[in-house]
Amino acid sequence: STVASQATPSRNTQDWQAADSRHFLHPFTDFQGLARKGARIITRAENIYLWDSEGHKILDAMSGLWCVNVGYGQQSLIDAAAAQMKELPFYNAFFQTATTPAIELAEVLAEISPPQFQHVFFTSSGSEGNDTIVRMVRRYWDVLGQPERQVIIGRKNGYHGSTMAGASLGGMSGMHAQGGLPIPNITHIDQPHWFEHGAGLRGETAGLTPEAFGLKAAGWLEAKILELGADKVAAFIGEPVQGAGGVIVPPASYWPEIQRICDKYGILLVSDEVICGFGRTGQWFGCETMGTKPDLMTFAKGVSSGYIPLGGVMVGDRVARVLIEQGGEFNHGFTYSGHPTACAVALANIRLLRELDVVRHVREDVGPYLAQRFAELNDHPLVGETQSCGMMASVQLVKDKTTATPFDEALEVGMVCRGHCFGNGLIMRAVGDRMIVAPPLVMTRAQVDEMMGLIRRCLDLTLEDLRKRGWL
Ligand code: PMP
Repeated sequence: STVASQATPSRNTQDWQAADSRHFLHPFTDFQGLARKGARIITRAENIYLWDSEGHKILDAMSGLWCVNVGYGQQSLIDAAAAQMKELPFYNAFFQTATTPAIELAEVLAEISPPQFQHVFFTSSGSEGNDTIVRMVRRYWDVLGQPERQVIIGRKNGYHGSTMAGASLGGMSGMHAQGGLPIPNITHIDQPHWFEHGAGLRGETAGLTPEAFGLKAAGWLEAKILELGADKVAAFIGEPVQGAGGVIVPPASYWPEIQRICDKYGILLVSDEVICGFGRTGQWFGCETMGTKPDLMTFAKGVSSGYIPLGGVMVGDRVARVLIEQGGEFNHGFTYSGHPTACAVALANIRLLRELDVVRHVREDVGPYLAQRFAELNDHPLVGETQSCGMMASVQLVKDKTTATPFDEALEVGMVCRGHCFGNGLIMRAVGDRMIVAPPLVMTRAQVDEMMGLIRRCLDLTLEDLRKRGWL
């Protein structure tokens, strides 16, 4: 008896797939390609496992979409939503009103954030948070009488969401190619990607240590500032660890140097914590792991462990003071800014993170263990590099590991590997030929072992498959 048949006895997987392709346009999807194949229908979840409509059990090594940090089925989050919906499902925060969950969550966020953050602006997603950042940063410089400070610098292969401003801040060329992006006054520097830049053997990394490369990559920011003129630059935005770009962990020297450059030119530093926030890197926020003191932080996902949509911007004192004391009305906001039910769930989520001491669990126990187990994959013939930070990690698949030679992109070797993962009950994502995980933070060491067993098996199956295809 499958879960789907329990839920709706009259519909089987094929019925769901047919209805899906008739009506549902999925995000980041080739609609026709999916219709030919049929979507995988997920029907139920518990802890770190999912079940599909065929009754297959799947280990979710991506925490949904980098968000279900406390795992599935946490009763206190469910109860918080139900209780708040009964009491007051919704009221807005426009027109000089507020609801108690939003006030309380703002207070708690100020408590767990680095000390410069005492204020929050709520949204429903990370993309909306980054749109808010663009408007807020430009408003800040306007109020200060420097309206010519307009340009925001992001990074190639960075990801900051899918709205017009979010996709513009991000540096995904495939996204810029659709819809006339980036919007004006947003520009990008190269990413601090050790492997892509030659793995120490050639290109920008040739003959460098990772530490020296980190300084060099941060220097690209200074070069860009000088090219544009410092008086034109409003802010720099980056993810502490690039997530969607492929779990790219910069050398330890990178972020402190970025901070030094932002300080030198008075440029606002924005940390996009949508993935790194709420414990994923082993601190409450990724900027703490990387050693920066940002002026603004975007958050979403982990704030509610994905149980309900919620995001926002933590606004540091430097910006808050100007907007509050000199700014007058800020003409920006959403119907759901401070949604009471979303805020109640987030409060329950943060309470649970504290009760279970999850951030320390990641920093001192399961994070270092994941790093150790991922490093062991370096003995595999397909593995050219592994990286990890807290509960996120990546494996770069290569054609020749001694020379760090990549596969021909057109072969889509990452997708071959992902196919073996799907077929073996593991959700692992492919970004080009980089295989990535970001499992729930509550994972135990035994579950890490279980995941690593599946990963190694899928790498072996991929190797065998590539040999059969004659690609090796
Ligand atoms: N910023 C980062 C770093 C992200 O990873 C994402 C989503 N993966 C976003 C922003 C956008 O968030 P959302 O999809 O909630 O709009």
